[in-house]
Formats: sequence, C-alpha cells, structure tokens
Amino acid sequence: AKKQSLCAYRIFDPQMRSSMIERNALIDDIREAFDKEQFELYFQPQFNTQKGSLVGFEALVRWQHPVRGSVPPDVFIPIMEENKMIEELGRWVLMGACKEAKHWPGDLFVAVNVSPLQLRNPHFALTIGRALAQSALKPEQLELEITESVLLDENDGERSQIETWKKLGVQVALDDVGKGYSSLSYLSQFPFDKIKIDRSFLKAFEAGKPKDASAVILHAIVELGKTLGKTVIAEGVETADQLEYLRSVDCDQAQGFYLGRPMPAKEARKFIRKSRSLLWR
Ligand code: C2E
Ligand code: CA
Ligand code: CA
Ligand code: CA
Repeated sequence: AKKQSLCAYRIFDPQMRSSMIERNALIDDIREAFDKEQFELYFQPQFNTQKGSLVGFEALVRWQHPVRGSVPPDVFIPIMEENKMIEELGRWVLMGACKEAKHWPGDLFVAVNVSPLQLRNPHFALTIGRALAQSALKPEQLELEITESVLLDENDGERSQIETWKKLGVQVALDDVGKGYSSLSYLSQFPFDKIKIDRSFLKAFEAGKPKDASAVILHAIVELGKTLGKTVIAEGVETADQLEYLRSVDCDQAQGFYLGRPMPAKEARKFIRKSRSLLWR
C-alpha cells in the first residue's frame, strides 16, 4: 500500500512529474545518440613522471547533442548504467579505443573505463576478446579501468572476472583509489597491475606550504602500491607543483590537464608525434 501511495504522490506532484518527463526525454535522446553517431571518443595522455615520456591514453566518451550541447559523462553514464544501455556503449567504446590504439606506436597503451554492470557481466570477457581480435591490438596495449566502489560489496564473481581478463593478457587498473569509503585491502585482494589515485588528493596541494593530510595520504598510497608491486598513477594533475610533488614521492605516472586535456583521436595522433621529442629532465 505504501508503494502505491508513493506512486500517486509522484503523479500529482507537478514538479516531480516534469522532472520525470525531462528524464525520459534524456533517455530517449541517449538511445538516439547511437544511431545519430553523436558519441565520440576523446583521449587523455598519461606520462611516466621520471622520464617525462608519454606512456598511453585514457579513452573518455563525449556526447555532443545538437540541442543539449555537450553533455558530461557524469550525467549520462549513470543513466545508461540504470537502463542497461551502458553495455552497448561499453562495447562501442572498447572497440573504438582498440581500433584507434592500433594506429599508435606499440609501446603506448589505451585505458578503457569499464562500468560496474560490465564487470558483473560474465560475457564481457568475450567482448574484450572480440575487440582485441577485430582490432589486432596487442593485449598488453589494452588496460581496463574499474572503479573501487564496485568492489565494495565483496563478491567472488568479480574477482574471477578480473582473473579471466588477465588471462587474455590485458592490464587491469583500479580507478579512483582512496575516494569514498575505500578499503586498501582491495589492493592485495585483486590482481591489479596499476592503481590510480583519485584526483581529490591533489586538489589541496600547493608547493611551499606544509604538507596537508591529502598529500601525506597520497604519498602513503604510492608507497603501499609500489610495495605491492603495482604501477601507481595520479590523476588530476593541474599544476607544475603538483607534478613536482608526484616526482618527489616517486609516483610512477601522471595524468591531468597540466599535462594534456582529453582530445579527439586525430589530435591524439598529432600529440604522439610531437611528444616523441618532449622529455623532461
Ligand atoms: P574518470 O574515469 O575518473 O575520468 C577522469 C575524469 O577526470 C575525466 O572526466 C577527465 O576529463 C577528468 N580530468 C582529467 N584531468 C583532470 C584534471 O587535471 N582536473 C580535473 N578537475 N579533471 C580532470 P570526464 O571525461 O568528464 O569523465 C567523468 C567520468 O565519466 C569518468 O571518470 C568515468 O567514470 C566516466 N566515463 C567517461 N568515459 C567513460 C566510458 O567510456 N565508459 C564508462 N563506463 N565510464 C566513462
Ligand atoms: Ca578512469
Ligand atoms: Ca578516476
Ligand atoms: Ca570516476
């Protein structure tokens, strides 16, 4: 009976009703976005912090709608996740990223975000295998990023999924490490190759100031990750000082606006050509 009354409330609350209509319109537009080819892949560079060399790119999806303009992934990804549309987007992203990375020098990798629903889908390993076969990309050039929040509900299924992917020869990274209610025990429980420290840890950092708590925690996560044999990357590098700090604590890799914004595939190829001569130190 309680459910019914909630339903009735919804129908008669004009504001809630209009936001539901707006949401449904958004869902319709997302469905159409595939056919109308409104999705595009952008690529953001990642660097080796000591050598300054380009190591790879993270693929990030963009949605350009003729009326809505550019809609951020933080808006449409959660909706696609709820409506299971993320599976189709995920396949599209994976295939597109692998095909694009095939044009890059073989020592560069492409990192692809894997959504919680994909991680739980046992068929996803087949999707990976197909993307690798169709693109002819070397498995070690593909990195799959999964977010920490997915692992919160302890589940053996996810562990064996990750192990299956690893057998295909791809790299696996844990994204957004330290964000929210994270448990560092995941780092040893799952076979990750890389951990990506959440960008919130760099936010408060300023050179010359006493180290704030976030900077100290970042340092500790770097040490922990390296002790466990993982590659450690920090995201959200926006200033030279932040990069310098990462180098001083020996964080392996860095990604952020200071080093390069997400860019279309064509620009990424140009970026690769230029970066070959751009080393620091
Ligand atoms: P994420 O995986 O943590 O991706 C990094 C986000 O940080 C990107 O936002 C990127 O543009 C942004 N970023 C990069 N450098 C900086 C910086 O220096 N400062 C700041 N403030 N931000 C920076 P974006 O592209 O808007 O993506 C947001 C989230 O949407 C991603 O977070 C990811 O969770 C999700 N997402 C994006 N593309 C995909 C995709 O293809 N598949 C799935 N499943 N999720 C995706
Ligand atoms: Ca990511
Ligand atoms: Ca992240
Ligand atoms: Ca995220």
